[in-house]
Amino acid sequence: MTGTRIVVVGAGIVGCLVARELAARDPHAAIAVLDRDAIGSGASRRSAGLHLPRGATERLRAMTRYSQDYYDALRRERPTLPIHPTPVTVVSATADDRTVGETYLSGAEPVRADRTDLPAVGVPPDVRVWRVSGGHHTAVHELTCALARDPRSRVDFREGVAVTAVQPVGGGVLLRLSTGDTLTADRVVLAPGPWTADPALAPFVAPSGARVKKVVALHVEQCPADTDPAVVFQDDDAFLLPLPERGHWLYSFARTEWDVDPGTVARGLSPEDVDEARAGLRRWAPELLKYDVSGRVFCDAYSPAREPVVDVVDDGGRVVFAGAANGCGYRLAPAIAREAADLLLGVVA
Ligand SMILES: Cc1cc2nc3c(=O)[nH]c(=O)nc-3n(C[C@H](O)[C@H](O)[C@H](O)COP(=O)(O)OP(=O)(O)OC[C@H]3O[C@@H](n4cnc5c(N)ncnc54)[C@H](O)[C@@H]3O)c2cc1C
Repeated sequence: MTGTRIVVVGAGIVGCLVARELAARDPHAAIAVLDRDAIGSGASRRSAGLHLPRGATERLRAMTRYSQDYYDALRRERPTLPIHPTPVTVVSATADDRTVGETYLSGAEPVRADRTDLPAVGVPPDVRVWRVSGGHHTAVHELTCALARDPRSRVDFREGVAVTAVQPVGGGVLLRLSTGDTLTADRVVLAPGPWTADPALAPFVAPSGARVKKVVALHVEQCPADTDPAVVFQDDDAFLLPLPERGHWLYSFARTEWDVDPGTVARGLSPEDVDEARAGLRRWAPELLKYDVSGRVFCDAYSPAREPVVDVVDDGGRVVFAGAANGCGYRLAPAIAREAADLLLGVVA
């Protein structure tokens, strides 16, 4: 290869989709993806993988629309990928038709529904119910590995290789690796997920103001029916996701523990995690309280503006940071990858 040398740091769903996008757009580029661990083993491995067709701002709705179309096209092209269309109901004790309509994409069509659209989990009677279309869920780790496999003959994936320093030098960027080797690239994309404080990457990523928050989801040991919908609890920023392929429900809820370390946070559910999850279930789905619970604990990077950050982060315009997707990095990854490639190839041109 004699084209532009591009290194992507991080092989989560974001880094892998960035590599796919660059490989598709620039057939002559020499692309390497480096990860200190295995492909898809960071936040992507713990993700609930729910795609909801909604966004709080104009940019988020545009990104969501693009990502939804991207995943829909992937599913049509490769029906064996683990992308499962999922019926979605929204419940709220306070929101009206207008509020719900404004949050969801045009085309997702929030329509008023009734309790027959809800699974038998004991949702309280004093709520309004809507049905929206366009939702799906996936096993993000599995999907990331499948999507990394396609360009593997074209992209140099190096697992178990940490980047220990990033140094813009002359016309390029020097990367020092945990193996003792060095790599020189023309352009670099940093897609480190919640490893924003990594000493090698922090000088570039920290100015974005991204902070790392604990993210927890409870597993409820009751097998949902194939037809059960996901239920979004609009008032609580929480949802219940049926995972019939795994044989349990997943309850995702907002945790407010900030500045956790991705290297140590995955030490199991704490009593506070379980108590907060149970409080949410008691309010929204009390029928599930009688089942055993377990779960998944990790973290994600959040930006001050609560929109993903895709930005040039060095003086020479050679290093791009793509991430801080605020707990929505799966569903926004295709749009993040597109913005990163626009920026990177625009800079190259
Ligand atoms: C419990 C949980 C539930 C979630 N549910 C949803 C959901 O339903 N829907 C949704 O859209 N999102 C969800 N998310 C968020 C989503 O999973 C993340 O936003 C997304 O996976 C981030 O992807 P990423 O590629 O940016 O990061 P990651 O998947 O974390 O990948 C980053 C990679 O960078 C590597 N790395 C870091 N530093 C270095 C270095 N110096 N050298 C080499 N490699 C390095 C890491 O090893 C890692 O593999 C959830 C997250 C969690 C934790």
